[in-house]
Amino acid sequence: MLPSLFSSVLELITKTSTELPPDVRAAMRTAMAAEPVGTRSAQALTIIAENIDLAATGEGAICQDTGMPTFEVKTPVGANHIWMRQQIREAVAEATRRGVLRPNSVDSITGQNSGDNLGPGTPIIHFEQWEREAIEIKLLLKGGGCENMNAQYSLPMELPNLGRADRTLEGVRKCILHAVWQAQGKGCSPGAVGVCVGGDRTSGYLHAKEQLFRTIDDLNPDPRLAELEAAIMGTVNRLGVGTMGFGGEVSLIGCKVGAFNRLPASFFVSVAYDCWAYRRLGVVLDAHSGDIARWLYRDPVNPIVPMLDQAGFARTGVEVALTTPLDEATVRSLKVGDVVLISGPMFTGRDAVHAHLAKHDAPVDLRGAALYHCGPVVQKDGDGWRITAAGPTTSIREEPYQADVLRRYGVRAVIGKGGMGAKTLEALGETGAVYLNAVGGAAQFYARAIEAVDGVSLLEFGTPEAMWHLRVKDFPAIVTMDAHGNSLHKDVETASGEVLAVLR
Ligand code: SF4
Repeated sequence: MLPSLFSSVLELITKTSTELPPDVRAAMRTAMAAEPVGTRSAQALTIIAENIDLAATGEGAICQDTGMPTFEVKTPVGANHIWMRQQIREAVAEATRRGVLRPNSVDSITGQNSGDNLGPGTPIIHFEQWEREAIEIKLLLKGGGCENMNAQYSLPMELPNLGRADRTLEGVRKCILHAVWQAQGKGCSPGAVGVCVGGDRTSGYLHAKEQLFRTIDDLNPDPRLAELEAAIMGTVNRLGVGTMGFGGEVSLIGCKVGAFNRLPASFFVSVAYDCWAYRRLGVVLDAHSGDIARWLYRDPVNPIVPMLDQAGFARTGVEVALTTPLDEATVRSLKVGDVVLISGPMFTGRDAVHAHLAKHDAPVDLRGAALYHCGPVVQKDGDGWRITAAGPTTSIREEPYQADVLRRYGVRAVIGKGGMGAKTLEALGETGAVYLNAVGGAAQFYARAIEAVDGVSLLEFGTPEAMWHLRVKDFPAIVTMDAHGNSLHKDVETASGEVLAVLR
C-alpha cells in the first residue's frame, strides 16, 4: 500500500518550498535583464535573486510565508483517497515540524494557530481519477500577500481609469490590467496571474488558481485565449509598477487564462495573483510503491543554474547606516528613495500584535524602535530560538492601527512591504517616523541579517504572530514613505493609473 507515499510527498513539499521552478527562474532572469542597473527595481531584483540562490543551496524556505498548501492529485481508478489524504496531511505536519513550512493554519473563530498546518480546510487537497497506472501530485504554495490581491469582477462594470468592461474578451482584458494595477507591490511584484473567464464565483476562483499550474512559457490551446494572454503580456509592463511597486519595467511575468461556461445572468472574471515566489512543483509516483518516478516542472538531473553570476546586494556607498533605537532628528533627515542599513534591536509585529497594541500596553519599550511587519519561520534551538526565514509581510493590513501605534508608543521606523495609506503617512509626519520597504519574499536574505533572537513576547499568538526581539546587522530597506508627506507608493499608483487610462 504505497509505502513511500509519505516520504515522496515530504520531498515534494521540501523542494516546492525551497526551489523555484526553472520557468519562473527564467522569467525572473528576463526581468533582471530588463531593469536598468542602479534603479530601485534592479536593486530589489538582486536581493530576490540572491534569496532564490540561498534558499536552493540551503534548503530553506524561499519565503517565510509558505502559503496555503494546495495539492492536485490524480490517481488510478480504485485508489484509496481516504488513506492517501491522511498520508499527505501527515507529510504536511512533518514538513512544518522541520521548518520547511511555517505554521499557517489559524482557527478563524478563536485566532489560535494549530501549529502543524492542519485544520478544517487546510491543507487543500483535490482528488481526481484518471485512466492511468500512475499517481500525479502537483503542489502550489501561494502566500497570503498575493492571495489578498486576488480579484473577481462581475461584468459589465465600470473600472477606474479603464472605463466600461463589457462581457467580451476586451472587457476581460481590462479586468486583468486592473487586477495587476491594484496589486502594486502588495503582492510582491513582479507576479503572475491565473485567470478564469466565466464559471460561478466558486468555480471561477478555483479554475483561475488551476491556471497557475501551467508553465509560464506554455501556449494556450485555445487561440482566442492565447491571443488574449499575448495581448496582456505585450502591454502590461508599460504600467511601470515594477518590482515591489518601486516603479520599473516589469510588473508581470506571466498571464494564463482559462474559460468555464457560465449562467446567462453571470459573467465573472476571476484573477488569482501569484507573487514572484511562484512555488509550484509536481511528482509522478509509482502506483504500487509511491516512489517518485519523475518530477514535474523541474529536471533534477541538471544542476540548478544560480540566478546570480556575481556578488549579490552590493553597497554603493550612499546607503545610510542607522542604529536603533532611532532619534527624531535622524529619522526626519531621511527622504523617499534613501537606502538604509539598520543595525541594532528590532521587534516584529504583525496583525495580532497590532490589534493587541491598540488595546493593551506594549510588552517592551518601543520608543525609537524599528517595528518589522514580519511573521518569521522559527525553530527551537536548545533554550533559544533560531529564525530560518524572515521577509516582510504586507503592511496595508495594519493601516487601521499603525497611526495610533506610532503616536502612542514612539516607534520611529515601520518596516514592511507594499506601503501604507494616508492615515499612516500623516502620523509619520506628525511623530517623526518613516516607513521602510524591505524586499517581499526575501526570507533567506533577511534571515541572514539577524544576528540573534534576544527574546519573544506574546508567543500565545503563535510563532508567526508573536513579537520577536531581534538583533540585526546591516538590514537593508528603502525609505518609501518619509516624515515629510512623501510616498513612493502613492506616486507609483497614480502614475501607473494614468498609464491604465492610455491602455483602455
Ligand atoms: S513573496 Fe510576498 S506575496 Fe509571496 S508569499 Fe512571500 S510575502 Fe507573500
